[in-house]
Parts: sequence; structure tokens; C-alpha cells
Amino acid sequence: MENRVKIAIQKNGRLSTESLSILKKCGIEFSDSNNKLFIKSTNMLIDLLMVRDDDIPRLVSQNIADLGIVGENVVSEKQLSDSSLKSKTILKLGFSRCRLSFAKPKEMNLDSLSNKKIATSYPAIVKDYLEKKDISAEIIEIHGSVELTPFVEISDIIADLVSTGSTLESNNLTELDCIMDSQAILIQSSSITSKKLPLIDKIVSRVTSVIKAKDSKYIMFNAETDNADELIKLLPSAESPTVIPLADKSKVAIHTVCKEDIFWKTIESLKLRGASSILVLPIEKLSY
Ligand code: ATP
Ligand code: ZN
Repeated sequence: MENRVKIAIQKNGRLSTESLSILKKCGIEFSDSNNKLFIKSTNMLIDLLMVRDDDIPRLVSQNIADLGIVGENVVSEKQLSDSSLKSKTILKLGFSRCRLSFAKPKEMNLDSLSNKKIATSYPAIVKDYLEKKDISAEIIEIHGSVELTPFVEISDIIADLVSTGSTLESNNLTELDCIMDSQAILIQSSSITSKKLPLIDKIVSRVTSVIKAKDSKYIMFNAETDNADELIKLLPSAESPTVIPLADKSKVAIHTVCKEDIFWKTIESLKLRGASSILVLPIEKLSY
């Protein structure tokens, strides 16, 4: 049991689906995951701890979980409010992107944050920000319905997570300064036992491959031999391509991995300059 690697992920919420999906893409198989707090992998020595996201930094810091997937905002908040909480950030995972921002009611005239009442679920991050800027203001900690507080005289302004801004908009709030940008990250305990290390390294390397592959595309097309160099220059972040001669001696096939998504604009530019049979394929895993 002690040699099984434990990974803490959010049970129900914005991080859950993508966290589970990344682990599945890493080849970790699980039995039915519905409504369970503890899920054993059926093919590797791995267990999932299905928990609230707020508990993940502590579980990893105390080595109850070896790895965790959680928002940077939650890790910062927990570590700023308890300096004994420590973990290693291994990798940014590129999903659940959001920012912690101040926001004010649209009609409010606001000259500065000084002496204002600020409602937030992230009191430690906001306190740290205000201290660094030498601003004195009152922080009101509230969990849930933060957007309501300026309209019921609990606060003057708020500091809350924003992704598209539509929630602020529908609550008649205007976004002000951004305090921090956030996305989901993979964190690792600082005190891993040597027996578990090889499997943890394998998981980390597989997660890295899956994340790298997400934005990458495999592109193939045919081109006039004389034109190949010019076309290759149009590809975004391309690896050194493979150029294959075709039966028609005046033409070659070009195959390469692009480390960025390929948009219609690139395909149209390639076509315009003589590329044909253009094929863009998603990549499932990418390991160098
Ligand atoms: P739990 O019950 O696990 O405590 P929660 O209500 O705290 O869940 P969610 O709303 O599921 O958490 O958000 C989880 C994480 O998703 C946030 O901490 C943040 O990192 C990220 N996130 C991305 N966009 C947003 C957004 N617009 N609002 C809130 N969180 C967001
Ligand atoms: Zn939470």
C-alpha cells in the first residue's frame, strides 16, 4: 500500500473533468469513477484521492498525496496563509485559466483602493498584494456570492476570479487591476520516498508529453521541390521537417510537427503558394 502513488484531484468542479482526462491520456486506467472518494488504478500502482480543490495543497504538503492537480490561485492562497505548506510546482497544465482581479460596481467612482472594504475568497493573496503596494484597506473574507457583496453594503469592491468576464458583466461589475493570473498546475510533494520516485517520474514525464502534444499538430503536404523551403518558413514553430521525394520528380512531400496549433490562415497561405494535399493531424503524445 505504501508504494502506491497517490494523486489528489478535485472531485467535483471546474478542474475535475480535465484532470481525469489528462491522467487517462497518460495510460492510467481506472474503474468506474462516479461518486467515489478513492479510486484505484486497474493497471498501475496509483490511487486517486477525489477531494475539494482547497484541500489539495495541504494533502501534497503533508505527503498524504504525492502529486496533485490544482489551480495556482489555490496553491498561492494556502501557502500565503500557512507558510509551513510546501510543494514543488512541476508543470503548468494549460487549462482552467483565469485571473484574480479587483472589480467595482459599474456606477461607482473609484479613485483608489485605499480604505475600501474588499470582499474576497482569497484574503491572503489580496493582503499580500495590498502590502506590497503599501495600500491600507479592509479585507472581508467571504466564500460564495462575492459579486453580491457591493450591492448589499457588505463591501465597496471585490477581488474575485474572472475568466471571460461574463459573470462580472451580468452582475453589473467592471473589472479593475489583475492581481494574479492562474491555471491548473501539477504539484509534487517535497518528500517523496525513493521507492515511489521511479513511478512518479514516469507519471510526470507522461503528463509532460500529453501537455506538449495538446498544442502541437502534425502537418503533411506536397509541394514543388523548388518551392519547399519557402513553404516550410510559413509553418509555426516547426521541427526540422522530413522532405520525401515523390514519384513525380518535380515534387516532394513535407512532414513535420508544429508546436503550435495550425489555423486556417496558415493552410490558406500554404495553398496560395502552391502546396497541395494538406493534411493536419492532432498529436496524442509527444516525447523528445
Ligand atoms: P470545491 O468544491 O472543490 O472547493 P470550488 O467551488 O472551490 O470547488 P471551482 O469553482 O470548481 O472551485 O473552481 C476550481 C478552480 O477553477 C478555481 O480555483 C480556479 O483555479 C479555476 N477557475 C477557472 N476559471 C474560473 C472562474 N471563472 N471562476 C472560478 N474559478 C475558475
Ligand atoms: Zn474550492
